[in-house]
Amino acid sequence: MKTSNGYIVQPMNTDIRTEKPLSHDLILGFKGLCPSCGKGKMFGTFLKISDHCPECHEELHHHRADDLPAYYVILIVGHIIVTAALVVETHFHPEYWVHMALWLPLTVILSLLLLQPIKGAVAALQWRMGMHGFKKAKQLRDEKGY
Ligand SMILES: [Zn+2]
Repeated sequence: MKTSNGYIVQPMNTDIRTEKPLSHDLILGFKGLCPSCGKGKMFGTFLKISDHCPECHEELHHHRADDLPAYYVILIVGHIIVTAALVVETHFHPEYWVHMALWLPLTVILSLLLLQPIKGAVAALQWRMGMHGFKKAKQLRDEKGY
């Protein structure tokens, strides 16, 4: 807008996006918290994501994580266990039964510990990116500016 003295005055930008970084939403999902409010629990049971957030009622049933969390768990746990097994074998040369007693339970425990957090992060990523049924929620967030 141009004033009578020739200065150009621009209105203050009240539409400043307060978008949080992607890592923020991924961390919330990793912790099993709703990526929208960060307070409600995302999981109803061990691997079942609730239909809605109990706090903000954000629809969470649109996620399509499918096999991606399992793939990431296999990738991460495989790298940890194989590396550890090779290091132990190289330095200590234990009997094979020691390897079996160590790495089999560790593989199961690590897989169970990582599966839910990684599924939460994948669902949060889909929510953030507006994938699948999250498209409408993302459009609403974009219109509101957050
Ligand atoms: Zn929520």
